[in-house]
Amino acid sequence: MASVTLSGLTKSFGALQIIPDLHLQIADREFVVLVGPSGCGKTTALRMIAGLEASSGGTISIGARDVTALRPGLRNVAMVFQNYALYPHMTVAANIGYGMKARGENPQAIEKAVTKAARIVALDTLLQRRPKELSGGQRQRVAIARALVRDPDVFLFDEPLSNLDAKLRVEMRTEIRKLHRDLQATMIYVTHDQVEAMTLADRVVVMNGGRIEQAADPMTLYARPANVFVAGFIGAPSMNFVDVTAVAAPDGPQIRLPGGALITPPTAFGAGLTARIGQPLIMGIRPEHLTESPGTPHMDMTVENIETLGSHKLLIGTMAGAPFTAQVSPGYTAVDGQTAGITPDPQHLHLFDATTKLSLLAAG
Ligand code: ATP
Repeated sequence: MASVTLSGLTKSFGALQIIPDLHLQIADREFVVLVGPSGCGKTTALRMIAGLEASSGGTISIGARDVTALRPGLRNVAMVFQNYALYPHMTVAANIGYGMKARGENPQAIEKAVTKAARIVALDTLLQRRPKELSGGQRQRVAIARALVRDPDVFLFDEPLSNLDAKLRVEMRTEIRKLHRDLQATMIYVTHDQVEAMTLADRVVVMNGGRIEQAADPMTLYARPANVFVAGFIGAPSMNFVDVTAVAAPDGPQIRLPGGALITPPTAFGAGLTARIGQPLIMGIRPEHLTESPGTPHMDMTVENIETLGSHKLLIGTMAGAPFTAQVSPGYTAVDGQTAGITPDPQHLHLFDATTKLSLLAAG
């Protein structure tokens, strides 16, 4: 297995620059997920690593090898695609062994490798079936087994679960995670689904406009997003953003909430916050870090809709004119159109510079 290093990787389609300057170091055996909105360049980056797309500049190394100019077959990577790309007239066994057969490997070696790969993805009893006799999840397992028989240095996954229904996606997530644990392989996985990214990855790379916004382990992304983009992209329902100002107080800076109430942010904001007294800031607060107790200090939210989800309710509406969602207890009885007093947990406040959109923790 091997590390993967992208150094100053660029990609343009004609005059359109998709990836301006990508640097990423992926460790041996790491499970890295590239995530970002549609069109941010994550699939293009993955295809460049696979060699299916030529890079416009920069280098790609796998282990100590510079593979930038190598054709896909010589890179020793295996890619699993969203649409499975199975041969419909072939059995599961023939589909899994197809690449080996095409390379002229001997039948015993093929059978051995196919049996081993099929066992890993629990397809060993279905080897004589044709793809149309399989469920979506089983088809995707065939595509994974086909990658396994190559015994690659690096596995590349391009949105492999997007064609599956929600329940199967959750099951396959667990299987892919287990596969990573068992194989101890380097895996790079592309998705636009932040839940998939958070649940699978050792490290999540959040991309936007061909650039990396932040690369960190899931908990760091959730707890310490580097900027407003990452803060809004990671977490469901999304983080709320409210315009606030920092004010001076005897015991340190405080945040003036919409409506005028003051709260004391964690001391971790320190000098970065003191330097911004009187300046406009963006406060981020996740729905799960709000409570309905209209104690002091609180903010008034206009409730437009209430979603009852069993374990909790979501109040959906606006705060000072901006969209706002609060997670409240299941017994809470707000009504649509009502004003609800909502209290943020000061320990979970995020503060961003209103101009640069960078976290005050990251910006210092
Ligand atoms: P999605 O989740 O929608 O697949 P993505 O982040 O994977 O998005 P890419 O497929 O990498 O995005 O595409 C990035 C940008 O490059 C998009 O604007 C896309 O239209 C453009 N693009 C991709 N392939 C080509 C191509 N062959 N020619 C021209 N433009 C392309």
